[in-house]
Amino acid sequence: MSSALSNIFARLPVSFSHGQGVWLWGTDGRRYLDALAGIGVNSLGHAHPKLVAAITEQAQRVIHVSNLYEVPQQEVLAQKLVALSGLTEVFYSSSGSEANEGAIKLARLYGYRNGNNHAHIITMDSSWHGRTIATLAATGSPKAREGFEPLPSGFIQVAYNDIGAIEKAGKDEPRVNAVLLETLQGEGGIRPADIDYLKAVRKLCDERGWLLMIDEVQSGIGRTGKWFAHQWADIRPDVMTLAKGLGGGVPIGATLMGGRAAGVFKPGNHGTTFGGNPLVCHAALTVLETLESEGLLANAEKVGERLKAGLASALAGVQGVNEVRGRGLMLGVELDRNCGPIARMALEAGLLINITRDRVVRLLPPLVLSESEADEIIARLVPVIKQFLADSP
Ligand code: PLP
Repeated sequence: MSSALSNIFARLPVSFSHGQGVWLWGTDGRRYLDALAGIGVNSLGHAHPKLVAAITEQAQRVIHVSNLYEVPQQEVLAQKLVALSGLTEVFYSSSGSEANEGAIKLARLYGYRNGNNHAHIITMDSSWHGRTIATLAATGSPKAREGFEPLPSGFIQVAYNDIGAIEKAGKDEPRVNAVLLETLQGEGGIRPADIDYLKAVRKLCDERGWLLMIDEVQSGIGRTGKWFAHQWADIRPDVMTLAKGLGGGVPIGATLMGGRAAGVFKPGNHGTTFGGNPLVCHAALTVLETLESEGLLANAEKVGERLKAGLASALAGVQGVNEVRGRGLMLGVELDRNCGPIARMALEAGLLINITRDRVVRLLPPLVLSESEADEIIARLVPVIKQFLADSP
């Protein structure tokens, strides 16, 4: 029977029936080690009993209430997010793209309210902010943008990790009023920003009265060992976007605001039907509480270091391996050549990973990953990388 699904995704030949922890079972009867976690979504792994219970309980009470009415679960989750981030307001949506759409609209409104009617946002080369039309315009991937012109104007892409490039863009375009960046680029190939750079961007935004908007959709919610990756630089953005790991698998996005971004959105400025319904908010709260009660941030840091060090030592001196990098459980192995076939080879070895920026093997395992499971990733992945390099000189 031919598939009725759109052909948008180039899918690998496996289908899953169920999961437990870091493991997924295929309909082929095989067990796979999930080192991708739905691209950073399943922060608690699969079928975590606390998350399953929370979703079940909430579904029995009420799943959805219109945003025209008060939803107590939204407030409880917002209080928690505010406490963790130091920001002061939360707007919910249903995905990372939507969270960033909210941030983009907010920057424009912030400009409008301050006499800057055509606010421009500086974004980064190799960044990823989503696939809707505005987030695509913000995204620094010409490949993803190709074929979708005209995209909205008002975005200026500059080199990542280069404060001079931001300064120059601000001089050339006086309507700039915000900088949007990832502190650790995910789709961009697991590329971290330098701590000094992040501090300098914060300072520059303060000097110019710009919004610093940090996209933590992939790097947030404990993945790097802190709640949000920018906390490694000890800075606070004015706007932060979240999604992926926040819901542990239920679709939720969030745009958090503080500093000069607080109070910009007024009733009627923005909205959503599904964003932050009681089901997803209760699930997300349970994710945050479980990450805390089970010490999973510390686990991500400790097991992530072991995984990174283990990969680096097993691949040391291997011709074709450029670098093992990243932080916590957001890691990449960069090769010196395109390595798309590795995803399928790893699947055959019972391991889920993916390839970003053509040359980077990406690992985003659930934050419940144990040391022995990390060792198992190394045991499965290293021979695959070596085999690939031997077969494709
Ligand atoms: N921002 C970042 C940093 C991402 O990595 C992604 C997705 O990979 C997005 C935004 C878009 O999120 P979504 O696919 O949920 O729309």
